[in-house]
Amino acid sequence: MQSNRLINRPQLVKSIRPRRTDAQAQVDLRKRWNGHWHGRIDLITNRVARTFLSERPRPTLGCTYPKPSHCGKVFEPPGGPNLLSRINGTALMLGLALGNAVLAFRLPPIPQPASYHQFADQRTWLGVPNFGDVASNLAFAVVGLAGLWFLLKPGKLTNAFVDPRERRPYLVTFFALLLTAFGSAYYHLGPSNARLVWDRLPMTIVFGALIAIVIIEHVSLEAGLKLLPFLVAIAAGSVLQWYRDELHGHGDLRAYAAVQLYSALVLLIAPLLKSRYSRGYDFLIVFGWYALAKIFETADRFIFTHTHIVSGHTLKHLAAASTGYWMLRMLRLREPSPPEFIAH
Ligand SMILES: [Zn+2]
Repeated sequence: MQSNRLINRPQLVKSIRPRRTDAQAQVDLRKRWNGHWHGRIDLITNRVARTFLSERPRPTLGCTYPKPSHCGKVFEPPGGPNLLSRINGTALMLGLALGNAVLAFRLPPIPQPASYHQFADQRTWLGVPNFGDVASNLAFAVVGLAGLWFLLKPGKLTNAFVDPRERRPYLVTFFALLLTAFGSAYYHLGPSNARLVWDRLPMTIVFGALIAIVIIEHVSLEAGLKLLPFLVAIAAGSVLQWYRDELHGHGDLRAYAAVQLYSALVLLIAPLLKSRYSRGYDFLIVFGWYALAKIFETADRFIFTHTHIVSGHTLKHLAAASTGYWMLRMLRLREPSPPEFIAH
């Protein structure tokens, strides 16, 4: 068993400060466990993760897993901070889903505001109406294509997946981000409810795939793979249901809002669970980009009137596309947890 060869904390501390019996393990936070420099962002995110996720010393991986060169350079604990057991984590996810559904049913119907299509920046440039909100969708195309290229190219992301089937929800995610570029550009060329459905549909597919990713990597691989098509169908169905009701004159956004809220909550709790991979706290940063996108969306006119250059909605597209960029970054940097941490 590889785990038998892992050095324990006292051994590690002793190896770092042999003359101090009360020594705390000293680890260079600027380094990932393969010793590569990853700059200030990783330093900050590691410190945030250490502060909020676990107070235990991190460097428990020893000199055998996954490579001898990893010795003494591990910051993140294998398998994540383990604040919640797998059973409690599963119960929390189910409870949140139930609570979310009950809340959605108890709320009064949420109609689509007629003013929604009136965006702050309506300038035409190069013959393209609403140029800022249309052109900024290029970010979704770039991120979507980059993700698909990395996922489909042999030899890339070699450490990102223990089981090749785990690529599926990420393929769905990045393909849906690519579709978002087209759907959102189409909508912003002539904003209307009929076009808005094509803007929202691919984004909700991303939400469904994200939930499946968290289940696969934190709860159960088999369950997550089986749930993937259902989660995508439920998420996409929430948009279709809204549009069908809209056509009948009583559009209701409750289901769509519930899907968004649930996927955001799942991202928030993911770092609390044991993970198949390192860098579980990257899900928090993905959530952060998503929250920033929502803030930009709300401040559309405020930002435009104060900058006269860019609107909040244009920035919203860039922040939302950054969620995909950060997921791709996580895939490139993460490492599998030791086998005993991996759920099947
Ligand atoms: Zn938009």
